[in-house]
Amino acid sequence: MSTQRLYRIEPDALNELIQSLRKQNYTVIGPTQRGAAIELDEITSTSQLPIGKTDEQAPAHYRLKDRTDGAFFAFSAGPHSWKRYLFPPVLKLFTSRKNADGVHIAEEPPATEKEELYALLGVRSCDLSAIQIQDKVFTGGAYQDTAYQRVRSKVFIIAVNCVHAGGTCFCSSVRTGPRARVGFDLALSEVVDGEHYFIVEVGTDRGEKIVETLTRRPAEDAEVEKADHLIRAAAQLTGRSLEPDNTREILYQNTEHPRWDVVAARCLSCANCTMVCPTCFCATVEDTTDLAGSEAHRIRKWDSCFTLDFSYIHGGSVRPSSRARYRHWITHKLASWVDQFGTIGCVGCGRCITWCPVGIDITEEFRVIRETYLMNRGTGLNKE
Ligand code: SF4
Ligand code: SF4
Repeated sequence: MSTQRLYRIEPDALNELIQSLRKQNYTVIGPTQRGAAIELDEITSTSQLPIGKTDEQAPAHYRLKDRTDGAFFAFSAGPHSWKRYLFPPVLKLFTSRKNADGVHIAEEPPATEKEELYALLGVRSCDLSAIQIQDKVFTGGAYQDTAYQRVRSKVFIIAVNCVHAGGTCFCSSVRTGPRARVGFDLALSEVVDGEHYFIVEVGTDRGEKIVETLTRRPAEDAEVEKADHLIRAAAQLTGRSLEPDNTREILYQNTEHPRWDVVAARCLSCANCTMVCPTCFCATVEDTTDLAGSEAHRIRKWDSCFTLDFSYIHGGSVRPSSRARYRHWITHKLASWVDQFGTIGCVGCGRCITWCPVGIDITEEFRVIRETYLMNRGTGLNKE
């Protein structure tokens, strides 16, 4: 961590941060316990954070546990990702009304300034990378998603460096974490080790302006080193790994690998993996009318390449089997995404592993296929 623009704040100052942001009209979104999981929602004070909670994650397994140290952020990614605020699950695009003059289309007015002004508190490094990936998807090409751009251009991001490695995470292997490097206004590192404090790293001028409103002091080297040590330790403890080099070649050369049948026998095509994934961006549009046929709405909704209908074109689905759909999903994530956007589409958050009801693990599926590729190297069986 660079020692420039690093401050130490006490836990109470985190509440000052939330109040400062609220005074500037931000709706602060952060992690909070909802039932048996840590989800994302509006928070108005630190008392709504999952203080003293941690999570235990494994394939198809998520449990909250108590800690005794009062840590604010000692858990890893939950079922929600930040994309629900930048790319909402349901968005009305327009309404058309029929009257004596004909049909009139009214685009949905953008939400009010306050409704769309988000401060995201607790964005992990993997999720920062996911936001950067979705930036490319929605705003990096010839066609811009104006709704995404409008919200994204105003969002204030407070990252939190991970010191608790999750059982299904693999950010360090795909080089997206556990430390936030770019793309934040402020980044927090929590130290709970005899004393409880946060190191605040400033990423932007508007971040600096918010920090100026907090009770703070410049961080001392030893305090920064303690935080750095915890982050380095977390990097060694992530529960899984995925080798990110050559993913494209490996998957393109194994489109008929027998493993696709093995995974298809387990996959329920439930689409959970795509709903929880912070980079998946598939959507569909639905039109609805009132009973009189005088008013119709067009709504955009998250969709998934795991549904049969998603690739339905004039008379049939392009990917009629679970085998074809799983193969498509992982090949897009780790291979054709590189062709489209220049990076793989997986940031190693582990959500798809935890929330798959049958525990299908992207790292394990890829590992098996990669082993075949490595075994065939030099034999002429790979198209090298
Ligand atoms: S594919 Fe899985 S591990 Fe990768 S970003 Fe999506 S949910 Fe996270
Ligand atoms: S891989 Fe798992 S989460 Fe994804 S569709 Fe198949 S069963 Fe559902």
